[in-house]
Amino acid sequence: MRCAHFRTALSARLDGEPTGVPDRRLDKHVARCTACREWLERAERLRGVVSAAGAAGPSADWSAALFTRLGEAGGVPGSGAAEDGGDGTGRSGQGGGRQGG
Ligand SMILES: [Zn+2]
Repeated sequence: MRCAHFRTALSARLDGEPTGVPDRRLDKHVARCTACREWLERAERLRGVVSAAGAAGPSADWSAALFTRLGEAGGVPGSGAAEDGGDGTGRSGQGGGRQGG
């Protein structure tokens, strides 16, 4: 069997799914194969993180606290983009006098 096959089985075992491979055989390979052992350690860590996050989740308390904080922040940060009504059409043009002789 190939490493990929073992890893598929190991992954399934982490999920508690049927692996189709005897545990002893999996363990034996992991014990001998450094690559698969490292892979398994990473997979277990990932699995732990995922399951922990899934178990805890954003609880009602957490959500309530978040909304409370949002409320305390007070309204929407005002956008003080006032429009300036000035139009610059003031033209100061003076006709030059011609001096002719
Ligand atoms: Zn392997």
